[in-house]
Amino acid sequence: MDTWKEIYEHLNAVPGLCKSMGMEKGMQFVRMAARLKDAIIAAQPPSANPETPPNCLPTKFESFLGCAIGIPPDYVQGCWAAFSGLVWDYKGEKEDGKGFRTGMDAYIAAKMLFPPTHRCTMSGCTNTKLLRAKNNGTGVVLYTLADGACVAFAHRLTCDKCSTRYYPNYSVSEKIRTYYEEIPDAIQVAEHHYVERVVLDLFINLMLISWTSATNGARVYDTCLSKPENIPRDHPAWMDASFKIRPEYVWDGFIVLSLLEDHQRRCKPLRVPHNGDEKDRFKQAMSDRNARIQFYGQPELAHYCNKCMRVWDDGKGNLCACSSGLCSRYHGLSLTGPVAKVHALVVDGITIGHPCCGVRHCTIPLEHHREQFCPSHKTVQDAICAVEGCDDKADRSNGFLTCNAPLHRELELNHKKRDKAMFQLKAKVVRSGVANPDDAFEAEITAEEFEEMQVDDNGKPCPATKDPNGRKIRALFGRRKTHGEQVGVYTCGTIAMRGTFYGSETVPQTADLIKKTFREPGSMPEIIFYDNNCTLYQHLAATNYPLLKTVGLPVDVFHWQCKHNKQGAACSYHCNPSRFPELLGEDGKAWFFNSSVAEQTNVWLGGFHSILREMGHVKFNYFLDEMIMRKNRLTIANLEADGACPGIRPFGYA
Ligand SMILES: [Zn+2]
Ligand SMILES: [Zn+2]
Ligand SMILES: [Zn+2]
Ligand SMILES: [Zn+2]
Ligand SMILES: [Zn+2]
Repeated sequence: MDTWKEIYEHLNAVPGLCKSMGMEKGMQFVRMAARLKDAIIAAQPPSANPETPPNCLPTKFESFLGCAIGIPPDYVQGCWAAFSGLVWDYKGEKEDGKGFRTGMDAYIAAKMLFPPTHRCTMSGCTNTKLLRAKNNGTGVVLYTLADGACVAFAHRLTCDKCSTRYYPNYSVSEKIRTYYEEIPDAIQVAEHHYVERVVLDLFINLMLISWTSATNGARVYDTCLSKPENIPRDHPAWMDASFKIRPEYVWDGFIVLSLLEDHQRRCKPLRVPHNGDEKDRFKQAMSDRNARIQFYGQPELAHYCNKCMRVWDDGKGNLCACSSGLCSRYHGLSLTGPVAKVHALVVDGITIGHPCCGVRHCTIPLEHHREQFCPSHKTVQDAICAVEGCDDKADRSNGFLTCNAPLHRELELNHKKRDKAMFQLKAKVVRSGVANPDDAFEAEITAEEFEEMQVDDNGKPCPATKDPNGRKIRALFGRRKTHGEQVGVYTCGTIAMRGTFYGSETVPQTADLIKKTFREPGSMPEIIFYDNNCTLYQHLAATNYPLLKTVGLPVDVFHWQCKHNKQGAACSYHCNPSRFPELLGEDGKAWFFNSSVAEQTNVWLGGFHSILREMGHVKFNYFLDEMIMRKNRLTIANLEADGACPGIRPFGYA
């Protein structure tokens, strides 16, 4: 070790150095030179001793360090003479961690969480003094990317004048939490638990890219990143503390971070109630965002790029004069003058859902996602027989959901038998040690719990039947789930539309969703691919909707060739993709637009089936929108890299 005196003598030997250089540049020199140690050894003659630093720094490193730090070459050599011993044994911050461990009794740790301000920022408050800490700080667990699960101390500061309390992530005044504008690096997920923003980003991207549930994300962290060897088990306060990250922390972190990002994009502070249950704290903020997206549409509604929008010109840069005549029927639709364009959207449905009211097509949310009916249907529906079409009183007092009609009772008993068998099967799988049986089995059990039964041929047809032959009865014994999501994807893969279908997928619902989503003038795509376009065409023709004159409705090319029954005028004419020359590529052979893109999107969305299955409607919609927005960001980054020039048209999302 060199004393300050020796260091000073080396530095003082270079004229002018001590007068023009200070600690900051000196420390930068040490840090940077320490990283070059191996490169410096490699530049030495073969006989050199790698244990000791060379007397002189090789010219290459001399000029590099001089430039990087902003000092002349003789200063660099002066610093080398003074600091080379330190550089050779430099340990960086590794030693500090050990040092900080001794501070725990004094409420000192390497990670100290403080609010970003030391003065009161409450508008109207006249306090100009420093905020006060009323205690030593609270011991918390901070989940970091680099150092695993660490002990940290979170500090709360208070304004003596207005009593606003400042926590690391937010301030509290009159029972309202206001999060700070700047998104913090460590996000609070429970009273004594914080997660680094990068770790939360990791969890969210694991969900986005590989459908990793919060439970499995937490397992990944505990297995690979938590560094249990750093846990201070020798300290009495932390001896028995749990450093495992829980799935609830992953979810809460997901929600807080995505809400903060959403508010930052809109330059609005996030405000939530400070008191009450953690699980309800963000519900209103999530509902608000859901409602906003439902009303304005997905942010990428106004997207375009040259994989989903085609524009024709006359070869002289004029987009209008279209010699081919292909675009004539699209003229006058665009916003910025007579541009001939075709924007193509693919619509497709997917059966993922959340529990909803058992009454068909009812969209009123359940009070709790384990209930069977919404508040307005609960009292009536809970009292009557579960068989569809039967209004008799159910024998609830004896534990039945059906009336006393023998056939209806038989149906319920059948259902109970099947339930029991499924339960036993599941128990068997659990016993056999299959790692995660939940995902595979519960999804089936908690899906719509319909039971159907053929009515005996000799018996009288049941009056409750809806079957035209009167031979089938049907009842819902569990919770109904929403039928599925209808998704609209531009042919480049950008998701522009999402809507929930409560009952089965019907053409009028799809037509309504399209009309509602693209209601801004100029936003309606010119081509909409949809497997059921023949029925959609007939529906629009029957209702005389003007959409027909401006929108082409071909079915997907693959669907046309393989699955479509090509009978009827609507079918063989209006939805034949080859009737639309604007869909053909430049050579007139290949198709210009990728019309099977929605299927790829739905394969991705379908991966969330088991993550979504127990979510209530608020979280379900919030989660799907977040995943879609993030997926779109990835898609658009890829489109940019591919030179597809993605952009946003001047309408829509406010
Ligand atoms: Zn104040
Ligand atoms: Zn596009
Ligand atoms: Zn209802
Ligand atoms: Zn009945
Ligand atoms: Zn058709």
